Amino acid sequence: MSNPLDSPIFRMIGEIAAAHGQHAYVIGGYVRDYYLRRPSTDIDVVTTGSGVELASELGRRLRTRVSIFKTFGTAMLRAGGLEWEFVGARKESYSRDSRKPVVEQGTIEDDQLRRDFTINALAWSLNAPDFGELVDPFDGMGDLDRCIIRTPGDPDITFSDDPLRMVRAVRFATQLGFDILPETFEAIERNRERIEIVSPERIVGELNKIIAAPRPSIGFELLDLTGLLKLIFPELDRLKGVEVIAGKGHKDNFVHTLKVLDNVAVRSDDLWLRWAALLHDIAKPDTKAFDARAGWSFHGHETLGSKLVPEIFRRLHMPLNEKMKFVRKLVFLHLRPIILSEDEVTDSAVRRLLFEAGDDVDALMTLCEADITSGVDSKVQRYLHNFETVRAKLREIEEKDRIRNFQPPITGELIMSIYGLPPCSAVGEIKSRIKEAILEGLIANDFDQAHALMESIAQEMGLKKVSEAGL
Ligand code: ATP
Ligand code: MG
Repeated sequence: MSNPLDSPIFRMIGEIAAAHGQHAYVIGGYVRDYYLRRPSTDIDVVTTGSGVELASELGRRLRTRVSIFKTFGTAMLRAGGLEWEFVGARKESYSRDSRKPVVEQGTIEDDQLRRDFTINALAWSLNAPDFGELVDPFDGMGDLDRCIIRTPGDPDITFSDDPLRMVRAVRFATQLGFDILPETFEAIERNRERIEIVSPERIVGELNKIIAAPRPSIGFELLDLTGLLKLIFPELDRLKGVEVIAGKGHKDNFVHTLKVLDNVAVRSDDLWLRWAALLHDIAKPDTKAFDARAGWSFHGHETLGSKLVPEIFRRLHMPLNEKMKFVRKLVFLHLRPIILSEDEVTDSAVRRLLFEAGDDVDALMTLCEADITSGVDSKVQRYLHNFETVRAKLREIEEKDRIRNFQPPITGELIMSIYGLPPCSAVGEIKSRIKEAILEGLIANDFDQAHALMESIAQEMGLKKVSEAGL
């Protein structure tokens, strides 16, 4: 592996720091990821003095713009294809009701002690003569070897000072496949209520990293085991458990959801498709019903679930943009391909699905395939085979009818101008009957056939032409 301190910028930082009587170090993720052989492009530099001054001087030498964040006492610049962040070494103490620290200047060891985990507190010296030397007072290297997440200091203080660190512990365990040390884990259980002082935005930042990990279920299971899940994602917590009436149980929807999420993660890196997997059955607890003959049912959970999506996004301060709409749409449609494949796969049913899913039809199929988590192998095979039929039919209809971004070939304006009508229900009726006829496959998706159908509907309605517009 190439030397991680190859760039001449590292030596330059060390020189500037030394000239100011300071010491500078690379610290945190960049060092950790080097030993883990993970790529990383952002570098954190800490110095025993002013990080802003160090960055400003470096920026002058490199003729690069420096962004300064006064309130945090940090500075950032881009150079050599990397992003460099500078901060002064700190010693911190926090007040109980906020995560705003009272900051004092500190030594490198003070700074390492206030870091979240030992594996994130590893540092390389940048000053000569010990350039490149590892500074590791809390045995972060040992924890890297043992695959352990552990706080450098007393975990109760670490987590109480900044409770987001509890979710970060879960995030790193999930991303790296590490275990949380029992003592650290128990401190999370004890301090979990403190999470309420953390902003939803910061929590979602970590949740997204959990969801983007190779096996996101690890993270949600840990959130559950620590008791954090109930506090930060009660909707998911409610999915847990199996109710049994008259000897009949339903599946545990939390376990199922996590399986679906992992299944999607194998097939796609799309964060929002993964969110759709996480939320696809979110309304099952609200729609659960038991019938002595039919057993358990969750009628309408896809419709109610799709309504809950914007509420959950709003609560978590996530953007209510097209990503949310994508998730909402997938939750709404997630049963359709199954229903479709259980019946005979007709052209018109496939055309309707294409019409409603549009460009998201492939993502929807991926979600539906991931949704098959039955323990019975032959059942799984049968479903997957049925989905293959649906996919083939989707391709066939798509080529034939180009329905994906379907625009009816006859517009309302055209109908109004031909029959001299103001906007009225008759126009709407003609339009919707043409659309239905196309989706049913009674006529082709083209202008001539749609026009002919329009004429016969208009005749039936007793409408008279005032022009031949459009021909
Ligand atoms: P990644 O960039 O992959 O998310 P990272 O370890 O670089 O991982 P960042 O959030 O970029 O994580 O933080 C950089 C470093 O700052 C961390 O390695 C850690 O040393 C420190 N750090 C970040 N957030 C906290 C926190 N809440 N409490 C204590 N130290 C933190
Ligand atoms: Mg980072």
